[in-house]
Amino acid sequence: MNPVIEPIARLCAQLSKLPGIGAKSAQRLAFHILDIPENQARELAESIKRAREQVRFCSVCGNYTDADPCSICRDKTRSDSVLCVVKDARDVLAMEKTREFNGRYHVLQGILSPMDGIGPDDIRIKELLERVEKSDVKEVILATNPDVEGEATAVYISRLLKQSGVHVTRIAHGIPVGGNLEYMDEITLAKAMEGRREM
Ligand SMILES: [Zn+2]
Repeated sequence: MNPVIEPIARLCAQLSKLPGIGAKSAQRLAFHILDIPENQARELAESIKRAREQVRFCSVCGNYTDADPCSICRDKTRSDSVLCVVKDARDVLAMEKTREFNGRYHVLQGILSPMDGIGPDDIRIKELLERVEKSDVKEVILATNPDVEGEATAVYISRLLKQSGVHVTRIAHGIPVGGNLEYMDEITLAKAMEGRREM
């Protein structure tokens, strides 16, 4: 007989909804949460609650923030003339880690995907056009992923931006650092050739 303890079953059910967490992992995590000191478990619950209550989207760039506008939009040391367009907040974090970019961001909060029914009105393209129109942005860097949806979104946006006269660029992609030509697929290699530069 396998007695069902309702609160544990409920916790397992919630945890198994998280990405990458199967039934087994959910059970392991649930028992872990029961094993740790009560204040630690409460802190976990509280931090989930607080993140959901206090984090929202920046009204300027669309990034996650707990203060509107976000710290990047408020930062006076950053350049207003370059705008980097990314798919979501995770990409802002990734880009910031490189410490290579000192302009502003525009977070699309999604990517064009006709297969999933996501069209231009479902992501923040209109906001991007308005922003470019109203500010003195000189260059828009399209930093969406080099996959089918990312490419299609970049092409779509670049066509719309052509009319505004702003300089539109696309991040380079190709061979990753430490990569080996021999093992690259032909699309990656072709993209790397296409994006070659003078030395
Ligand atoms: Zn912002």
